[in-house]
Amino acid sequence: MNLPTRLASLLLLTVMAVGCASRGSAMTDSSSPALSPLDACAERYVKLVLALGQHDSNYVDAYYGPKAWAEEAKASPLSLEELATRASALVTELEAVPVSSDEMLALRRSYLLRQTDSLATRARLLRGEKLSFDEESQALYNARAPVHTTEHFEQVQAELERLLPGPGPLMDRIERFRQEFIIPKEKLDVVFRTALDEARRRTLAHIPLPAGEGISLEYVTNKTWSGYNWYQGSAKSLIQINTDLPIFISRAIDLAAHEGYPGHHVYNVLLEQHLLRERGWVEFSVYALFSPQSLIAEGSANYGIDVAFPDAPKYLREVLFPLAGLDPKRADLYVSVEKLAHKLNYAENEAVRGYLDGRLTREQARDWLARYRLMSLERATKFMANADAVRAYVINYNLGRDMVADFIERQGGTDEAPDKRWQLFQELLSSPRLPGDLR
Ligand SMILES: [Zn+2]
Repeated sequence: MNLPTRLASLLLLTVMAVGCASRGSAMTDSSSPALSPLDACAERYVKLVLALGQHDSNYVDAYYGPKAWAEEAKASPLSLEELATRASALVTELEAVPVSSDEMLALRRSYLLRQTDSLATRARLLRGEKLSFDEESQALYNARAPVHTTEHFEQVQAELERLLPGPGPLMDRIERFRQEFIIPKEKLDVVFRTALDEARRRTLAHIPLPAGEGISLEYVTNKTWSGYNWYQGSAKSLIQINTDLPIFISRAIDLAAHEGYPGHHVYNVLLEQHLLRERGWVEFSVYALFSPQSLIAEGSANYGIDVAFPDAPKYLREVLFPLAGLDPKRADLYVSVEKLAHKLNYAENEAVRGYLDGRLTREQARDWLARYRLMSLERATKFMANADAVRAYVINYNLGRDMVADFIERQGGTDEAPDKRWQLFQELLSSPRLPGDLR
């Protein structure tokens, strides 16, 4: 991580009546008089993202725009204060741009507004400003997660009790039960590649992708996440899978769909193809991690598991269980247990909410998570060790999934209408739509 260097800035804002002048300066090497107001704003947004990346090494998740802009961000770093000021000024200018009657242009304006506003907040948070969990969720991700009480999780656990009866705490029983469904290390690669190939085949049947797109797969250790897609640009992704902790068989489908098809890889490919290459919208050459776009990315990647594998129980039983050397006769019970356990997902929000709002210590939040999310103490410890970095990002996985599901299904993209669901899913992934536009 680079430390901020305060520079006397030559880059003074030029505010035009309609907003978003491009800045003629050392930071700009491609501004042209023909740029539309939104194009000019977009260029400044990209440069602000790159500049914030100098303070926060996780912020720029992917960048494949002009190299000179990245070099400039490094060579002439901006202070966090200056960044927050510039981002707020850009927000004001974007607000002055008239809303187009063309839906895609209106979505673009709103995308730039919300992403830039979120960037201003992120810069202020990095400077030490304090926000509650909900305030941070709203400011960074354009959404606020509902509160779930312990009674909600206890109800789900009562159902799990019926599936896995026996003595001792449910947490221990479920942990022991799951041991049966670990993918043996030597089978990991063949299981993952099979699931990834299948997810790709199913996705390509509905969503055309550019020639040459593809994913390379790597196994890594000592990471805070279980899987990660590093989008490389030009329709290529690198997916890394963390093998620190045992990997259960259902994760093969989850990771294949979430990180790959039709999840992160496809989202990035479609944004690059349709918005960056075809329309020349430069803001889609960068991906800001702690931003509203991540709610759409994580939400669509999680919903993508349902879209690509509506028959997950059957696929697990008939293909992946035998491939991993697991007993297919146990598949149905396993799937039922995991489906229920999945409903405990919102407990992650509550643990982080309690911790960030100062109501729970890290250890209390870890124990709460083990108790209500039914996580092993080892996984809960790992989860909470990362809570200061991840923070309100947790909502993107569960609330994001539910918001995307609701958006698609209320337009008719249901289980019973899979073609319609794929079509709506593709449209969402090819648009600048943000959480506020899903409602
Ligand atoms: Zn993800």
